[in-house]
Amino acid sequence: MTGWVAIAGLGPGDEALVTPEVRAALDAATDVIGYIPYVARIAPRPGLALHPTDNRVELERATHALDLAAAGHRVVVVSSGDPGVFAMAAAVFEALEKWPDPDAHDIRVLPGITAMLAAAARLGAPLGHDFCAINLSDNLKPWALVERRLRLAAQAGFAMAFYNPRSRNRPHQFSRALDILREECGPECLISFARAVSTPDEALKTVTLAEAEPDMADMRTVVIVGTAATRRVGRYLYTPRSSG
Ligand code: SAH
Repeated sequence: MTGWVAIAGLGPGDEALVTPEVRAALDAATDVIGYIPYVARIAPRPGLALHPTDNRVELERATHALDLAAAGHRVVVVSSGDPGVFAMAAAVFEALEKWPDPDAHDIRVLPGITAMLAAAARLGAPLGHDFCAINLSDNLKPWALVERRLRLAAQAGFAMAFYNPRSRNRPHQFSRALDILREECGPECLISFARAVSTPDEALKTVTLAEAEPDMADMRTVVIVGTAATRRVGRYLYTPRSSG
């Protein structure tokens, strides 16, 4: 097999945040596979086939990538941010389980800058101490588990980053998440809404949990919740490295 699959992260939006490694893979590719808006970020060129697909077909997309590579194609599977964070890398490995000889494939995962790190950098250093990332979507897990994880993470004193915080299909869940956070962290804890970081639509807002409203988040927002120690210094926000 001379084909390969590179599972690449395109970063949060700005072309300056695409790594040289990902750029090189895209330059060498014969095929690019991914969700429509991510494939739209790839400049067309002769010899490159673009395969944009809808959002909910991750396993089909992953199988398609492996099939093309087995036929000798050089395939880049694109995700936004990092491909290992709520994105395509795990889907490709899940599809790989169906192959008799997984190691016959040449698969590389090329990291990218994930939304929470791009957002944290814009804000200052809110993730300067221990933190966790939680996907608030209940597409792939029950909502009860989301609630349990965010309650326990809050009790454990983690700063938190929430991906997929809110969508039109489930408007009440983020409101419920805010209620749980207010119970566990108290009204003065700081929460940041970082929307479309590193794109022309970027918007950042930090408020207390008491002031937080569900409609401050949408699906282009990553939400960062600080710990009891997270504080402002001038226009920056940070969590001291020595916090408990
Ligand atoms: N693999 C991606 C995450 C995909 S899940 C990554 O590593 O960033 C999609 C979620 O990521 C969105 O709902 C939003 O919460 C977050 N996200 C992606 N790009 C973003 C950006 N530029 N600004 C803010 N949040 C973003």
